[in-house]
Amino acid sequence: MIVIKHIDNMQQYIKERKHRDITIGFVPTMGYLHKGHASLLEKAREECDYVIASIFVNPLQFGPNEDYDQYPRDFERDKALVNTYGVDAIFVPNKDEMYPTESGCQLTVMRRTDVLCGKKRPGHFDGVVTVLTKLFHIIQPDRVYFGQKDAQQVAIVHDLIEAFNFPIELVACPTVREEDGLAKSSRNVNLSDAERKDAPRLYDQLLTARKAVLTGESVESVKKKLVYSLEGIEHGHLDYAEILSYPELKPIESLDQTIIIAIAYQFEKARLIDNIIIKKSEIDL
Ligand code: AMP
Repeated sequence: MIVIKHIDNMQQYIKERKHRDITIGFVPTMGYLHKGHASLLEKAREECDYVIASIFVNPLQFGPNEDYDQYPRDFERDKALVNTYGVDAIFVPNKDEMYPTESGCQLTVMRRTDVLCGKKRPGHFDGVVTVLTKLFHIIQPDRVYFGQKDAQQVAIVHDLIEAFNFPIELVACPTVREEDGLAKSSRNVNLSDAERKDAPRLYDQLLTARKAVLTGESVESVKKKLVYSLEGIEHGHLDYAEILSYPELKPIESLDQTIIIAIAYQFEKARLIDNIIIKKSEIDL
């Protein structure tokens, strides 16, 4: 496995391989890797000739009062983990490499940003699509692997790929969880012991809401109970709990379509998100 820090070296690496009939799988991450990231690397390894992971904590996607500085980082640990998953190259540019000057040009997401994390974190998805556009140009992957835990990101990146004609297939992978149901996240290390005990309740409540949807309860009633139970958690506070159509992310009144139940919960030093998608075919049963 090779570690590449500079854009021109990464481009050279790709140039030396891309002329052959090979597929490149790409897993973009912000590092502090866990089994959720590993599941994407494994899938990429299964499906592609070359697997490239990137580790870059992208300042553009953090708001001024968010946890950019507190975001956990441990490159040596990440390097060892990535190596065990048969990754061919890791791209680890620093901030100045990716953004050498104050950006004079940035992308703006026009749809799906008025809800969920788009609403709560203004500019977040503009930062996400801007960095991904740069990474897609540098790495020229055939397939990119994303986690369904960040479902809004998946929907927006689908749009990005279509809107700018990237010849890339997006592969969305299921959320990997701890044994108690908590979605794995790099931010989980910033939970206190007491918060860590509370945190599995997020997924418990998503499961309860899912059950209610499948037994035909109204959207309004399911949402009300979901909010009520999440507001009852001792530590932290609820940021949002929504039931929307997926992948459109529009408000819904009836359950005759694929839907997402999505929550964001703010603990003291970690904002956690989670969701469940219920397919139309499941609701129809
Ligand atoms: P991050 O490092 O948080 O930017 O995440 C990098 C990629 O890993 C994104 O596509 C995430 O959706 C994905 N990911 C993060 N946590 C999980 C998880 N628990 N299960 C599956 N994928 C995940």
